[in-house]
Amino acid sequence: MNQLKWTQAGCAAAVLFAMMGMSALPGETAQPNDHPGTDKGRFIDAHVHYQDCKAGDLEKVADWMQANNVQRVINHPLRQSRAKDDKERAQQNENYKAFQGRIARFCIIFPDEVNSVDEAVVILEREKKAGAIGFGEHYGEVSKPQPGDKGLYFDDPKNMVLFAACAKVGLPVMFHMDRGRNLDEKGLPRLENVLKTYPNLILIAHSDWWKNLGDGTCDRLLQKYPNLYADLSCTVGRSAIGRDKIFAREFFIRNADKLLFGTDSGWWSLGQDKKPAPEFALIDELKLPKDVEDKICRGNAERLFWSKKLEKSATK
Ligand SMILES: [Zn+2]
Repeated sequence: MNQLKWTQAGCAAAVLFAMMGMSALPGETAQPNDHPGTDKGRFIDAHVHYQDCKAGDLEKVADWMQANNVQRVINHPLRQSRAKDDKERAQQNENYKAFQGRIARFCIIFPDEVNSVDEAVVILEREKKAGAIGFGEHYGEVSKPQPGDKGLYFDDPKNMVLFAACAKVGLPVMFHMDRGRNLDEKGLPRLENVLKTYPNLILIAHSDWWKNLGDGTCDRLLQKYPNLYADLSCTVGRSAIGRDKIFAREFFIRNADKLLFGTDSGWWSLGQDKKPAPEFALIDELKLPKDVEDKICRGNAERLFWSKKLEKSATK
């Protein structure tokens, strides 16, 4: 995305506001690719940010899903949208019960909110029990950042506490990185340190991670580390994926098992006047082989988040 779009949409919310657990939803039986012939939607969108704590919030999400041919979404809380008290948490749980199997959610803790892995585990276990299937969007910054604050390095000890807790509880982590948050260096050695330290922790890359395509870092890490995935949000206007469709197509085919469709849509995307996220059109433009498109648009997310088999292996 260019800077304007970046500040209007998607991850922009975070910028503006300064900002495996492979568990199926409670009570849900995973049914990937079931009900052939019925209209299930072409996409699983693994990266959205809709408000979910008030009655009726998820009905708006369902309308957006229907309009965009999306069968399932994974909703990621941001600082300004996460549940603030028990009343909101209770309403949130009620909301998700009505959309079980269609709208799932992640959870977040900020690095300054816990002092130990055990403390984080208690919170994450509670969240998982309530239905959270992952952790994020993880920004690696304190809960109330001040203007000019720099975020933490990706493998800062405070972030490592959260990663250790997520690995223990079995919650995949979707992370944001940019020049101010979840800092890393050329070749992403700090991300690599986390991938090596927690081989059972699934990490899903996003945002400026995609700026490391040019020197081969994205390919190298995706191919070397089974626990690294990436979602497609923030690719179109911000990386070679959007600029060079031949490169993009080849990259998608090479990494077909490691990419998740995602748009970074959110409450700012609602309304008749809003255009669909560019990732929808990207998939049409690339004309991928059907098996590759199926994996990226749905299959990989189904495998990661709605597979009972993986849930067992993640707890080993
Ligand atoms: Zn986002």
